[in-house]
Amino acid sequence: MHPSLQALLTLVPALTLATAFAAPVAPAASRDAAAPDSRSALIVVDVQNCFVEGGSLPVKDGLAIVPLINRLAPAFDNIVVTQDWHTPGHASFASSHAGKKPFETTAMPYGTQVLWPDHCVQGSGDAALVKDLKLPTAQLIIRKGFHQGVDSYSAFEEADHRTSTGLAAYLKARGIATVYVVGLATDFCVAWTALDARKAGFRTFVIEDATRAIDLNGSLAASMAAMRKAGVQVIRSSAIAAP
Ligand SMILES: [Zn+2]
Repeated sequence: MHPSLQALLTLVPALTLATAFAAPVAPAASRDAAAPDSRSALIVVDVQNCFVEGGSLPVKDGLAIVPLINRLAPAFDNIVVTQDWHTPGHASFASSHAGKKPFETTAMPYGTQVLWPDHCVQGSGDAALVKDLKLPTAQLIIRKGFHQGVDSYSAFEEADHRTSTGLAAYLKARGIATVYVVGLATDFCVAWTALDARKAGFRTFVIEDATRAIDLNGSLAASMAAMRKAGVQVIRSSAIAAP
């Protein structure tokens, strides 16, 4: 669990209520302020069959973001794709822990782990990228979650907060200063990716309407609060591409 997100999750009931009734709406970034340039990259997180309708861990309304991501893609010279890519019997699966059910948690050496249904197993059709994605300038696929005992939500580092995917160095070697994060799910892999992007020093946008959330026990509100606190700018796709 990302430390700041973990701290916030302990406050979930209060946070959920506070957010439901009192959270100010963030001002929309102007089109110029949010416009990508040649030093920008789009990170498309886990838009895979497993996470959309018909998959093993479907995020509600997940397919709806695909046309939107396709519309955003031409604005980016640099696109990175991530793919959740688990070994069979992975430690993040509830089925690997006796007596545990999906969406319960367990203590792992690196922190609290949400246990998921078996999902995105390497080489399965379930783990494939959604076929309607059109990302002509995508050059790099980061596969994550393939170390048997460690989950990996973030595109930048595994959940042990020690094992790097190499993405920050890749982006810096290519002169990237700003990243835009879209995909699934807002409150897990998108949020952790955006938080780690900030930690690595990138100007970071999350394009909110090009994400969908799981929202487990208030996780969406907690993740949005953590992202805003870390300086992630949450914008709408209309700030970049005309609808
Ligand atoms: Zn996973």
